[in-house]
Amino acid sequence: MTTNLLNYDAKGLTDFCTEIGEKPFRAKQLLRWIHQFGITDFVAMSDLAKGFREKLATLAVIESPQIISDHVAADGTRKWLLSVGAGNGIETVFIPEVSRGTLCVSSQVGCALACTFCSTGKQGFNRNLTVAEIIGQLWIANKTLRSDSNAAATDMNRVVSNVVMMGMGEPLANFENVVMALDLMLDDHAYGLSRRRVTVSTSGLVPAMDRLRERCPVALAVSLHAPNDHLRDQLVPINKKYPIKELLAACQRYLAVAPRDFITFEYVMLDGVNDSVAHARELIKLVQDVPCKFNLIPFNSFPGSDFKRSTSEAVNIFRDVLMQAGFVTTVRKTRGDDIAAACGQLAGQVKDKTRRTAMYVKTEAVK
Ligand code: SAH
Ligand code: SF4
Repeated sequence: MTTNLLNYDAKGLTDFCTEIGEKPFRAKQLLRWIHQFGITDFVAMSDLAKGFREKLATLAVIESPQIISDHVAADGTRKWLLSVGAGNGIETVFIPEVSRGTLCVSSQVGCALACTFCSTGKQGFNRNLTVAEIIGQLWIANKTLRSDSNAAATDMNRVVSNVVMMGMGEPLANFENVVMALDLMLDDHAYGLSRRRVTVSTSGLVPAMDRLRERCPVALAVSLHAPNDHLRDQLVPINKKYPIKELLAACQRYLAVAPRDFITFEYVMLDGVNDSVAHARELIKLVQDVPCKFNLIPFNSFPGSDFKRSTSEAVNIFRDVLMQAGFVTTVRKTRGDDIAAACGQLAGQVKDKTRRTAMYVKTEAVK
């Protein structure tokens, strides 16, 4: 039985080295070979002793998910469908911009939280991703993008500068594995990203928000989507368990240690549902004591969805009302929707273990 080293953070690799009779500092060298140089062949790890390399070759592997498909949208957004075995697939999206490259990473195969406007939520749930499958998405993106640009494989030219945990799944419902993957993203011997450039997006799992605050306080985005419990209960069912008042209190607690001095509230704009001026005014009252910014996301449709995108006029008016009240508000650009890579369109391949897919036929087209 071999061990997949992609499953280990710095501490795990140190323990592994000790267990096989090597000095703990070897873990740092291994981290660099694996994550900064993307090397899978132990023979090529030239600064490790030959005996150590031979031992590794018999005991360990470096195994990421397999690429099933790779699409580039007209605007340069790139989406990979990755196999994670047993017929399950997850999606990862790279969004290039002038001054940064953002990778949108998945944390679960499907999602059990069933938000009514979300493609992933409609697909049901299969399982949590392992650390190797989460960090493997960043590993694959860096490796592929670097080889495309023909750049030398050094840590000086990492193409992914920001990570957002906004792909398939609820990251805080897969807490331990996500935190280990976050540790690797932040580790100077692995990806060396700053806490400000790594964002966890959550639908509002309050106890896990508190644990994240203690364990690994990266930037936080909260999917609010409604200005009152009555409406949020319908859109984000987990609200029945952790209502808005508790959610906002958890945001306040998080802010005490957050790497940014604000929480980002995501707000999907659904035509005729949550997008009126009255909703905007109610929202302003609701969050007046929380240092925050708003990110309005025009709804992205997907096969079988029941909602319509708000008109751009409604989105602009909503934004202006928030801005006039002093809230920095951005409207998320829809990127990659021609390859179903936009927010909420990620479907992957989910062998549903819940009964939800009976209501929804998978239509992901592998072109
Ligand atoms: N589970 C986490 C992160 C993944 S979803 C969360 O819910 O926050 C990332 C963002 O996309 C969330 O704000 C989510 O509400 C939003 N989203 C989901 N479906 C969408 C859709 N169809 N159109 C636009 N945004 C959507
Ligand atoms: Fe899950 Fe987030 Fe989609 Fe809700 S919006 S179903 S929490 S992935």
